[in-house]
Amino acid sequence: MNLYSIDTGHFKLDGGAMFGVVPKSIWNKLNPADENNMCSWAMRSLLIEDGDRLILIDTGIGNKQDEKFFSHYYLHGDASIDASLAKHGFHRDDITDVFLTHLHFDHCGGSIERQGDKLAPAFKNASFWSNQEHWDWATKPNEREKASFLKENILPIQESGQLKFIPREEGIPFSNDFNIRFVFGHTDSMMLPQIRYKDKTIVYMADLLPSTGHIPIPYVMAYDMFPLTTLQEKKSFLQEAVENNYVLFFEHDPVTECCTLQLTEKGIRVADTFRLADA
Ligand SMILES: [Zn+2]
Repeated sequence: MNLYSIDTGHFKLDGGAMFGVVPKSIWNKLNPADENNMCSWAMRSLLIEDGDRLILIDTGIGNKQDEKFFSHYYLHGDASIDASLAKHGFHRDDITDVFLTHLHFDHCGGSIERQGDKLAPAFKNASFWSNQEHWDWATKPNEREKASFLKENILPIQESGQLKFIPREEGIPFSNDFNIRFVFGHTDSMMLPQIRYKDKTIVYMADLLPSTGHIPIPYVMAYDMFPLTTLQEKKSFLQEAVENNYVLFFEHDPVTECCTLQLTEKGIRVADTFRLADA
C-alpha cells in the first residue's frame, strides 16, 4: 500500500468560527487572521494506492460554483487536485473510489464538475462512498447547516449511479488495513479513515481535528452541530491516539500534514510534526 498527500488548494474561513469559544487573542497566535478576520486553511486529500484500487479521500472545494460563492472563500496558492495527482504519476480517471468523509462543500465540492450545461462526476471511473445516515442528513439539511450542504455537490453523485453506501454492519469494502471511525459531533455520521501503513496507524482527521491548533479539548469549531459530542469524541480519540502512537493526518492545517501526540502537564499535545512522505 502507498499513501500520498494530495493538496487541492487553500481557502479562508473566519477564525472565530473555526475556534468556537476560544478568544481571538489566543487563536490568532495559532493561525494569524487577515484584516477581515479570515484565516488560511488547507484542503488536503489523501490518496491510497492499494493493489488495483486507487482511493481518494475527500475532493476539496472544486471549481464549479459562481464568482459570488468563491468571493467568500478566497481560494489561494498554486495547488490543484490534477497537478497534485500528476506529481505522483496519477490522473483523475485512474481513481477507482472516492471516499467522502462528509458532504460539506469544502470536502466534496471537487467530486462534481460542470460538463457543458450538465453537472457530472469529476471522477468518471470511481464509486463515490458515503453512508446512508449522513446522506439522509445532508439531503434534508437543518437550517443551521444548510449553507454547507450544496445540492449541486451531492445530488449529481446519486443521479450518476456512482453512489455507494458503506455497509455499517458487514464491515468495510476495502482492504483489512482500512478501517472507519464514525463520529457524530461535527455533523451526523462523519467517517474518519484509519489506515494501517508501515506498521503505523494513520488517521485522516477531517473535521474532528481540522488542524494541530484544535488539539486542546475545548478548541471546537462553532460550525459543529453537537459540540459536546465533539468534546467526548476528541477526548476518547486523543487518549487512544497517544496510547497507540497514531499518526494524525490533517485535512485543513495550513502548514502541518502529520503529527504524533504526547501527554504533557497541560493535556495531550503535539509531539512531532512531519510530512506524510516522511512517516
Ligand atoms: Zn465539515
